[in-house]
Amino acid sequence: MPSSEASLPESPPSITRIEVEVDTRAPEGTTNAYVIGGLLVDPAARTGALDRAIGVHGSRSADGDADVDETDPAGVDAIAVTHTHPDHVGAVAEYADLTGATVFAHADHVDRFADATGIDPDGTFRDGDPVGGAGVRAFETPGHAPDHVAFAAEVAVEEPGTPRDGTADGDSDDGNEPHRELVCGDLAVAEGSVAVGAPDGDLRNYLASLERVRDAGFDRLRPGHGPPIDDPDAVCRRLIDHRLSRERAVLDAVAGGANDVDAVLSCAYEKDLTGVEDLARATVVAHLEKLVAEGEIGGEWTARIGGR
Ligand SMILES: [Zn+2]
Repeated sequence: MPSSEASLPESPPSITRIEVEVDTRAPEGTTNAYVIGGLLVDPAARTGALDRAIGVHGSRSADGDADVDETDPAGVDAIAVTHTHPDHVGAVAEYADLTGATVFAHADHVDRFADATGIDPDGTFRDGDPVGGAGVRAFETPGHAPDHVAFAAEVAVEEPGTPRDGTADGDSDDGNEPHRELVCGDLAVAEGSVAVGAPDGDLRNYLASLERVRDAGFDRLRPGHGPPIDDPDAVCRRLIDHRLSRERAVLDAVAGGANDVDAVLSCAYEKDLTGVEDLARATVVAHLEKLVAEGEIGGEWTARIGGR
């Protein structure tokens, strides 16, 4: 990194991903916690790596490793989650206690947050509000869960060994443009797809959120599971297409005479569902809810899917 960059009075925050092993149905078996400047996002469990990333020290370091400098200036001053599913919130209360950080929750979902984390938030946010002091802003992305939000930030680009863009002599400011990044929780994944199923999932909101993120033109997405996404536009389009093709399969099943959830399930999925049938069923119900809401299928489906 050029030395001039480090001396800028307000250099953009860095962003760090810490993979946390947790009981999750994501294929990696891990959830990503992130530290953006002083904001800790999705501390799914307490681990030594996460302790070190945020400068927590003391007698209870999770892996017994005591090599954290007690004067470590890193640390966090704010904690938030992308949503309150169990595989994202496990250590919110513990890190809040350890760091004294201000805990933030979405203003419309404070009770849900308290139920999931066991603590009341200190502050709340809505779409576009700053969260913590690192220039991070809330970016609402409901759909995977009703309280789902993402966190947008302009972060310092750290690509060791990579020449800066543009001019060869490197003294152009253009090459130091910070990345616009979005810590996007379970909105998107680099490979495969995320679960959007009833009762938490809402496909209409989910598709709108994907379109919103796609249209915002971020340089990089930082998902809740798996590696970063460096082609947000393509990945958002892929995920939208995936949902719409599933929706067509559900519509075809209904048009073909399927008249309950089981029948749609067996028509719309060709692969073996062993071990994931509950997720597939929840997904089908979410599709049927969307199609009822849009008038694409009859209101009799509201009763068949146990309406809400
Ligand atoms: Zn989730």
